[in-house]
Order: sequence, then C-alpha cells, then structure tokens
Amino acid sequence: MNILLAGGAGYIGSHTAVELLNSDHDIVVVDNYSNSDPSVIDRIKEITKKDFKSYEADIRDKKNLEKIFKENKIDGVIHFAGLKAVGESTKMPLAYYRNNIDTTLTLLEVMEEFKVNKFIFSSSATVYGEENKVPYGEDMPRGKATSPYGWTKIMMEQILEDAARANTDLSVIILRYFNPIGAHKSHLIGELPSGIPNNLMPYVTQVAIGKLPKLTIYGGDYDTPDGTCRRDYIHVVDLARAHVMAVEYAKDKKGVDIFNVGTGSPYSVLDIVKAFEKANGLKINYEIGDRRAGDLQDSWADVQKIEKVLGFKTQYDLVDMCKDSWEWEKNIKNISL
Ligand code: NAD
Ligand code: UDP
Repeated sequence: MNILLAGGAGYIGSHTAVELLNSDHDIVVVDNYSNSDPSVIDRIKEITKKDFKSYEADIRDKKNLEKIFKENKIDGVIHFAGLKAVGESTKMPLAYYRNNIDTTLTLLEVMEEFKVNKFIFSSSATVYGEENKVPYGEDMPRGKATSPYGWTKIMMEQILEDAARANTDLSVIILRYFNPIGAHKSHLIGELPSGIPNNLMPYVTQVAIGKLPKLTIYGGDYDTPDGTCRRDYIHVVDLARAHVMAVEYAKDKKGVDIFNVGTGSPYSVLDIVKAFEKANGLKINYEIGDRRAGDLQDSWADVQKIEKVLGFKTQYDLVDMCKDSWEWEKNIKNISL
C-alpha cells in the first residue's frame, strides 16, 4: 500500500517509515519540520536503501494537501502530526487545539474528497485519565485528561468515531501509545527533543552525556514498591512495527478499532535509571524531588487485544531500550542537522 505519513519526519513517524519501507510498502512523508529536521528524510533513505517522496508542508494547508493527494495515489494515512509536550500545552492550549484538531479535520476532509478510507491515528494512554485503573483495557471509557494535550487526543478520538459512523467506508485504527523510548539500531534516527526534555529517557541520556547536570525524579512517595511512578515503556521500533500490522489489518476492515501499544510490563522511574546504568556501565546523577503536577502514579497497558487481533509481540526488552537510547544520544553529534 502507499501510505501518507503526516508528521513522518518525527520520532515515531521516522521509525514507522523505516518499518513500512522494509515491509515493501510505499510511503509519502508530509511534515512541516516544526519539531523535526529535514535531514531525517535522507537518513530514512540511507537505512532502508529505498526512495520515496517527501513534502515540506503544513497538514492544515488544505490546498497544498489536496495537491499532494492529486500527485500521489494514496491508499491510507497515518497521522503523527501533532504537538505533544504536555507541560507546554498547559501554557499554549490554543496552539495545541488549533494544530492537533485542525490537522485531523483537514486530513479527514481531504481523504473523503479523494476516497481514501484508511486512517491510523497516534493516540495516547493519556486518554484513560485518572478514572480508570491499571492495566488499561481498550473497552474502558475515556477518562478526563490532565492537560490540553490530553484533551486533544480525547477529542480527536471522538471526531474519528463520529466520522466513521457517518462514513461507513472509513476504517479507523486508533493506536494508544504508552511510553516509547529507544532508537533504531543504526542509531541514525531517534528522538530529538527541542530544549530541555520533558520525557524521562531523553533526560537520562542528556545527564549521562553531560548536557544536563542531574535528573530529578518526580516524587518518591507514591504508593509503589520503590515510591516512584510506574509506566509501560516500549521500544520505538516495536511501536513502529505495530503500525505496519495496523496498516495490513486495515486493508479488509471498516469502522473503528482501538489498540493499546505497550508491553504490558510496568517499570518504575528508579527501575529505568538502574537498568540504564547497568546496560551501559554508567552512573546517573539523580535526586528525588517533588511530584510533577498532573502525573499519574501508574500507567500500563492490557495488551491482550493487540496480541490476539494483530498478532503483535514485542521483540525488544528494557536492555535494548536503554542501550539504543544511549547509542543514539552519543551519535546525535555526528549527524548533520
Ligand atoms: P514528534 O514531534 O517527533 O513528531 C511529530 C511530527 O509532526 C514532527 O516531525 C512535526 O514537525 C510534525 N508536525 C507537527 N505539526 C504539524 C503540522 N501542522 N503539519 C505538518 N507536520 C506537523 O512526535 P512523536 O513523538 O513522533 O509523536 C507522534 C505522535 O504520537 C504525536 O501525535 C504524539 O502526540 C503521539 N504520541 C507520542 C508519544 C511519545 O511519547 N512520543 C506518546 C503518545 C502519543
Ligand atoms: N520523570 C521524572 N523526571 C523527569 C522526567 C520524567 O521523574 O525529568 C518521570 C515522570 O514523573 C513519570 C515518568 O518519569 O513518572 C515518565 O515520564 P514521561 O514524561 O516520560 O512520560 P509520561 O509521564 O507522559 O507517561
């Protein structure tokens, strides 16, 4: 199939691009590079030894998007193009609603115009909110988000469900990502946080390399075995592989399907720090600080559905995640950005 990757130059999009090309799909990448670098495109080509078209464009620019759909025979879309920093979204809620909702609506409108009926959406575990208990199952009701970012995901899931109800030819696959970390084995692509990272693993790697002096662990008094929060970390290449399986599943599907994409195994913040130290033979300077506003104590997935329906099994463990995150961090300086 020929898949348009909206936001395909970003962290998860670039890894998915590699996995799709390696599975003999064709891709078209559309990105405005607001949170990525155009050089990622060449590095995807270098890894896969395959060529594809890419456009520097804002997904919200409908005329331009129509032109892209006219120039390419698109079979389906994966929508990664969003603003994603939880803290920033509380300071700039309008920018988050404008970008995240508009990109989704514009894609859906143009897809309808060109009779493209396969839509895969980057959602998040954040839609489970505070109301649900771990492990989260896809049949639980969406909760209340703890940030404008989270609300955009909840709203976009609703928009997609309504769109699929009205257009019964539409196939929507909502992938609720848990916590992607790690990088491709080539260490040519990975996460490129702008400014000081909000997420745990890029913070850890930046402390390890000396860009940042010390990790603050947000809260050591949670009701967990070691007092720190627990999350479901998944290797980004496994997450990317889940998209390939979703694309293939969407071929013969109509309506909405929701899948959690995680490992189903929780690790605490201290587990991650210790695993990183052990995997890479390093020490991380850290202290236990105050809790971060809006953090949930626990978040992990029930993965029975994705395993049963898509046949998805993760291939990488926590050691791979820690090693690949570190190798990528060390290689960033060698990559021309
Ligand atoms: P990312 O920022 O690395 O990638 C997003 C890409 O979209 C970037 O390349 C950015 O330049 C592009 N983009 C943003 N707005 C655009 C627009 N209007 N037009 C064109 N391009 C645009 O983020 P990521 O980590 O790869 O996340 C991808 C998706 O997955 C996002 O929707 C994010 O909310 C979601 N998600 C991410 C995580 C995570 O931990 N990384 C977890 C859950 C969900
Ligand atoms: N975390 C931390 N220090 C940091 C960044 C994150 O202790 O500098 C913790 C955070 O409190 C959470 C976990 O690491 O328990 C994962 O945080 P991240 O922001 O990566 O993911 P999310 O909270 O969105 O699941």
